[in-house]
Amino acid sequence: MLPASQTSSFRAVRLPAPGRPLVDERVVAATVGAGEVLVRVKAAGICHSDAHYRAGVGSTRHPLTLGHEIAGVIEAVGDGVATHRVGDRVCLHYLVTCGACRDCRAGREQFCATGQMIGKDCDGGFAEFVRVPARNAHALPDAIPFEHGAILMCSSATALHALHKARVAPGETVAVFGIGGLGVSAIQLARALGAGTVYAVDVNAAKLALAKSFGAIPIDAGASDPVQAIRDATAGRGVDAALELIGLPRTMEQAVEVLAPQGRAALAGLTRERMSIAPYRDLLNREAEIIGVSDHLASEIPELMRYVLEGTLELSSAVSRVVPLEAAAINLVLDDLEAFRDDVRSVILP
Ligand SMILES: [Zn+2]
Ligand SMILES: [Zn+2]
Repeated sequence: MLPASQTSSFRAVRLPAPGRPLVDERVVAATVGAGEVLVRVKAAGICHSDAHYRAGVGSTRHPLTLGHEIAGVIEAVGDGVATHRVGDRVCLHYLVTCGACRDCRAGREQFCATGQMIGKDCDGGFAEFVRVPARNAHALPDAIPFEHGAILMCSSATALHALHKARVAPGETVAVFGIGGLGVSAIQLARALGAGTVYAVDVNAAKLALAKSFGAIPIDAGASDPVQAIRDATAGRGVDAALELIGLPRTMEQAVEVLAPQGRAALAGLTRERMSIAPYRDLLNREAEIIGVSDHLASEIPELMRYVLEGTLELSSAVSRVVPLEAAAINLVLDDLEAFRDDVRSVILP
């Protein structure tokens, strides 16, 4: 239930239909149900996925309020919610799952048969308020600003999940393909997990410089073949783990080609195209593995918070632009993301 101080409607930036620009709307506030919380949005990250949803790829319900990287303050709690109180700082895990099916019970909730993604299958955080199940709201420590809490919930969380899937162990070498929102986190989280040398592959000079500032060795894929450059740098051995965070067949192939014996390539970038590998040379001969990465787990969020509090995951340079909760400004950011401009991450501060 909304407190008396609130009006019965609130501002939201919504996708009216697939392929259309986002529009400013007022949305009627629904009652907060049992087990739910109402969150006043303090920061919402704008993700490359949002550009796909605007273009009509992936989003399942329209009109839809986009936004799946959300941090804010609990405004109201529904019946039976004992875990949260009004005023609590929280960030939101974007996968709403049943918690009871075979996949949920096995700890792979991304495959919950009835799972929904906030901001894709149900209304998200490009709004003054968002209503979610209480168990999706994780405590956000005071020391972490809302805008960092927001971007942690997608790019950083998925970067950590990719490193977990790649089973990065202390002392191992890692190559990160693509230094965007995920890549900046992946480089730092690889170090947090004890990785040795981290190679950062991109074609953008600013992103390579950013990667270098976090201790990675920049590899300019525009200047030379990155696989050869990394092999040269590792006396021909290659890397133990490679993360592909772009979603291009060629960089996926490179992530496999660059592996050392028993190396693991974790692919997190999205593409509908096919990739091509040479099975003997790239996989069998090295006992290499190609591993898919889908979203992340709620159980990984406390680990992420710990890295931020320890200072091993530094996010201030990850937020490159702040925009108001206005459709025109958000559409411009999505245009830039579609065009792969320099931007690393934009955050809406309502
Ligand atoms: Zn995202
Ligand atoms: Zn389930």
